[in-house]
Amino acid sequence: MADLHFGSAAATPAERVAVDAVVAPFGPALLVESAHLVRGGTTRRAERRHLLLPALHALQREAGWISPGGLRHVCEQLQVPPAEAYGVATFYEMLRTTAPATEGPIAHVCDDVACRIDPSRREAAVTALRAAGAAVHDSPCLGQCDRPPGVFVQHRRGSDEVPNDSGPFELPQAGDPGLRLLRRVGVVDPTSLDSYLGQGGMAALGVAREIGGEAVIEAVAQAGLSGRGGAAFPTAAKWRAVRDASGDRRHVVVNFDESEPGTFKDKTLVENDPFAVIEAMCIAALATGAETGWVYVRGEYPRSVERLTSAVDQCRRAGYLGDAFDIEVRRGAGAYICGEETALFNSIEGFRGEPRNKPPYPTTHGLFGQPTAVNNTETLVNVLSILVEGPDAYRSVGTAQSPGTRLFSVSGRVVRPGLYEVSFGTTLGELLDLAGGVTGELAAVLLGGAAGSFIPADQLGLRMTLEDTRQAGVALGSGAVVVFDTSVDLTDTILRIASFFTAESCGQCVPCRVATVRQHETLVKIAKRGEVTADQRELLGDLSQVLVDASICGLGHTAASAVQSALRLGLVGGGT
Ligand code: SF4
Repeated sequence: MADLHFGSAAATPAERVAVDAVVAPFGPALLVESAHLVRGGTTRRAERRHLLLPALHALQREAGWISPGGLRHVCEQLQVPPAEAYGVATFYEMLRTTAPATEGPIAHVCDDVACRIDPSRREAAVTALRAAGAAVHDSPCLGQCDRPPGVFVQHRRGSDEVPNDSGPFELPQAGDPGLRLLRRVGVVDPTSLDSYLGQGGMAALGVAREIGGEAVIEAVAQAGLSGRGGAAFPTAAKWRAVRDASGDRRHVVVNFDESEPGTFKDKTLVENDPFAVIEAMCIAALATGAETGWVYVRGEYPRSVERLTSAVDQCRRAGYLGDAFDIEVRRGAGAYICGEETALFNSIEGFRGEPRNKPPYPTTHGLFGQPTAVNNTETLVNVLSILVEGPDAYRSVGTAQSPGTRLFSVSGRVVRPGLYEVSFGTTLGELLDLAGGVTGELAAVLLGGAAGSFIPADQLGLRMTLEDTRQAGVALGSGAVVVFDTSVDLTDTILRIASFFTAESCGQCVPCRVATVRQHETLVKIAKRGEVTADQRELLGDLSQVLVDASICGLGHTAASAVQSALRLGLVGGGT
C-alpha cells in the first residue's frame, strides 16, 4: 500500500468473508496496476468508497476490532488509501483499532445529563455488567433517557444489543385521539407492511401520486411545516430548491443520527412505526425528483437499523421501492457531530464525519456533491398528516407561526418520563403535568439538550412555540426536556455538558477546538471555588462569542449555550 504499511498483516478467512459480504454486491474491486491509489472524485465515491463504514462495521463484528489485516483487506477491496481508512476508523467511538483485552462484550453505559441524575441506579447497572464479564465504558447519551441508565452492548461475533429494548414498551399517551405523529405507535406491528396498510399506511403516498410533486410541495408550504431537528427551516422551501437545482441525480436523506443528549423521539417513532418513514421518503422523492434515499441511523440504535432494513425489504418486494426510487439504510458509528448534515454526508461517503463549509448548501451540493434534501425523521412523518388531512386541518392545531404538533422527549425528575406529542403552544408546565409532574421541588429544565438552554422554575408558562422560545432567547432544538429538582447537583450537570462538547468537537476549526476546552477548564475552576469571578464570567462570555462568530458548524455555535444560560440563572458559581 502506498501510504501506510501494515507489515505482514493479513485478513483471516473469516474477516475476508465478513467484509466481502458487504462489498461484493457492488461488483469487483478495480485492478491495482501500480502502488498508487487514486481517489477518483465524486463518481468513485458514489460507486464504492461509500461502503467503507459498512465494511468497517462488518470487520469489527467479526474480529471484535479493526485488525490491521482486516483493514488492509477493506482498503484493497474499496481502493481506499490505508491512511485515510485508518483516519476514518479512528474517528468513530464504536470502532476500535486496538485489540480488546478480553473476548467478553463491551458495554457502554450512559454517563450523560439524564442518566447521571441517579448515580446509584447507574452504579448498580455497572456492577451487574462487570459481574457478567463485560468491559464497561462511560458513554454520552444513548437515547434511552426515559429508562435510565442507558446501556449499549457490543458483542464479538454477534449483534449489538440494547438491553432496555427487550423490556415492554408503553407509550404514555396511548389511546389519545389527538395524536398525529404517534397515532400508530403501540398499535401497528412495526415488522409488518400488511399491518401498516391495515392502519391506513400508504394513504398519503396515494394522495401524493394523485396530485403530483408540485402540489405536494404546495401543500407542505401551506401547512407551514418547518424542520424538527433544531434549525426549523421551512421544509417546502428546501424541497423546492432541490427540485429546481441542476444535477443529474438527487437524493433524499433522513437525518436519524439522533444524538442530542436527552433526545429519544426519533428512536421511539422509527422503532414503532418504521413504514411511516419509508412512506414519507417516497413522498419527498416524488416532490424533489430524487432517485435515491438514504436513512442515516445512529450507530447505537441497532433495533432501528433492523426494523428499517426489514421495512425497506418489504416495501421493495411490494413494489413501493425499486428502480425509480430506492432506499439505503446506513448505520453511524458513534459520533455526535454526524448529526450535522454535511458531516453526515461525509460519513456516508466514507470519509471522516467532519462538517463542510457552507455555502454551497446541500440543496445544490449535498451527498456526493449532488442536490440533496436532508430532513429530520419527525419532520418527514408530519408530511403524512398534511397530505391525508389537508393543510387546513393540519394548521387547526398549534399557532399561526408554529402550526401542528411537536414531539418532546421528557426525562429526569418527572413521574412518567417518556415521549409526548403536544400541540405547539402547549406550555412547559402543561407538558410537565402531562408527564405526571415533577418529583420534588423543581430547580430548572434543560430545553433542547446539551445544545439548548436552562429554563428556570418560574418560567413554566413558556409556550412551546418557535416564536415564544425565540423571544425568550432559548430554542426548542431537538425537543429534549430534561427536568432537574433541587436534589440534583446542577454544577455536575453543567460540567458534564461542557466536557461533552470538548469530546464531541471534531476539532477541524480552531475556535471550537480550543474554546470548548477553555470553557470546560474555567468551569472546573469555578466548581472548585464554588463561585464565579468577574474575570471568569467575562472569559466565558468571550469564549461564547467566539464560538458563535467563528465556528463553522452548529456544534460550535451552540457549545456555550447551556453554560451561558446556567451562568445567567446562577445555577453555577452563584449570583446572576
Ligand atoms: S465548529 Fe467544532 S464541530 Fe463544527 S466543524 Fe468546527 S471544530 Fe468541528
